[in-house]
Amino acid sequence: ASGSDENDVVIIGGGPGGYVAAIKAAQLGLKTTCIEKRGALGGTCLNVGCIPSKALLHSSHMYHEAKHGFANHGVKVSNVEVDLPAMLGQKDKAVSNLTRGIEGLFKKNKVTYVKGYGKLISPSEVSVENNEGENTVVKGKNIIIATGSDVKPLPGITIDEKKIVSSTGALSLSEIPKKLVVIGAGYIGLELGSVWGRLGSEVTVVEFASDIVPSMDGEIRKQFQRSLEKQKMKFMLKTKVVGVDTSGEGVKLTVEPAAGGDQTTLEADVVLVSAGRTPFTAGLGLDKIGVEMDKMGRIPVNERFGTNVPGVFAIGDVIPGPMLAHKAEEDGVACVEYIAGKVGHVDYDLVPGVCYTHPEVASIGKTEEQVKTLGVEYRVGKFPFMANSRAKAIDNAEGLVKIIAEKESDKILGVHIMAPNAGELIHEAVLAMQYGASSEDIARTCHAHPTMSEALKEAAMATYDKAIHI
Ligand code: FAD
Repeated sequence: ASGSDENDVVIIGGGPGGYVAAIKAAQLGLKTTCIEKRGALGGTCLNVGCIPSKALLHSSHMYHEAKHGFANHGVKVSNVEVDLPAMLGQKDKAVSNLTRGIEGLFKKNKVTYVKGYGKLISPSEVSVENNEGENTVVKGKNIIIATGSDVKPLPGITIDEKKIVSSTGALSLSEIPKKLVVIGAGYIGLELGSVWGRLGSEVTVVEFASDIVPSMDGEIRKQFQRSLEKQKMKFMLKTKVVGVDTSGEGVKLTVEPAAGGDQTTLEADVVLVSAGRTPFTAGLGLDKIGVEMDKMGRIPVNERFGTNVPGVFAIGDVIPGPMLAHKAEEDGVACVEYIAGKVGHVDYDLVPGVCYTHPEVASIGKTEEQVKTLGVEYRVGKFPFMANSRAKAIDNAEGLVKIIAEKESDKILGVHIMAPNAGELIHEAVLAMQYGASSEDIARTCHAHPTMSEALKEAAMATYDKAIHI
């Protein structure tokens, strides 16, 4: 490693925050080194997060469609079976191709890649221990902490990645569990619960709060929960896990109402703990150089991503804000733009959120509940996919588009979509909101027919007037 010559920027962590920052920094002409301990670039997202989960969501959906959906379209298949090793193999291939792709991008952009565990020893020096236990010191005028996050443990529950798994274990189960209990009804729990449910597991989701995905618009959430229940996912809301017994063949979970009350026992072959993620700063030496953290272990930063220590910056899951890959990437670009003397900008009010189940749920901006709390006068325009010709043509008409616009100005405040491809459809709304558009701006934009996107146009019409097709 070219550790001893001084870099303009040294980045600790090669996830979507760190690797994007590294490439951008090099493109801006800064001498850049990125340190990653995992042995592969791409971080949580690429190795054990976004990408492998989407691979399995797609494969399991194909199986489920072949088994239960093809017949509706007059496609007859028999003996549809899951080949789990092949399914996991396709996921692993996607991951390794993509991680190697980032290594290629590092070479192309002349980013130095150092494999090893980074530890801050001064505001301009990182000591790196490689897998062979050797230490080098990498120096940089600026240091960016992009160490991301890790699974949040639940007190009293030990993750063994076999019977009691985190999201990482749930991406590589060697058998399809007969009964899967998911603790936590957030995006990750619902996505991975869906994967195994489609492959045949009986899935029960236990959630302490009174609702699944609390950040979602309430009306959309209700329809979403109903849709998941139709897919045979069971929910135990307002319920807490108070005991776990793994001594027998499977797992016995003792649960009780969140408010206290009678206990019941749940049996499972595998339990997935998905109760959130926590910033990862272990062994980083933050205390040594005096970088402050908040109560949740996150590193607070100013608008330029600077920590309280001059020359030391932080981005991505390790700082406050939505723990999402695309948000980490935006942080990374803006942070190095500041370092290079330019102006960077991230609009945290316009970070889309997508749950990649079937149907998908995607949202941008405010929920109706948030708008109410703000006391803003608003109008809602809705359009169901039942009335969208493309959705009917392909027999996939579950869901709706909901647009919330300010009453006086018609400015769009929030858009929420439940649809098979909601995660793609949402970006028209993100772009519209980024440009401060009114709902009428979308309604008067010509949309190709027949597309699912027309539902967005019709929902936009309905905020200030009437939709045509309903
Ligand atoms: P990370 O991706 O966590 O990367 C940090 C890297 O730093 C790691 O590779 C780690 O090994 C390395 N590191 C840490 N400490 C050190 C050190 N001291 N020295 C050297 N290296 C170090 N987000 C989405 O937007 N869309 C999704 O669909 C999505 N799906 C997800 C599914 C799952 C199952 C999970 C777990 C997460 C998912 N996420 C998703 C969240 C997403 O993965 C994170 O928001 C994103 O990875 C954060 O990027 P980051 O660069 O901040 O950190």
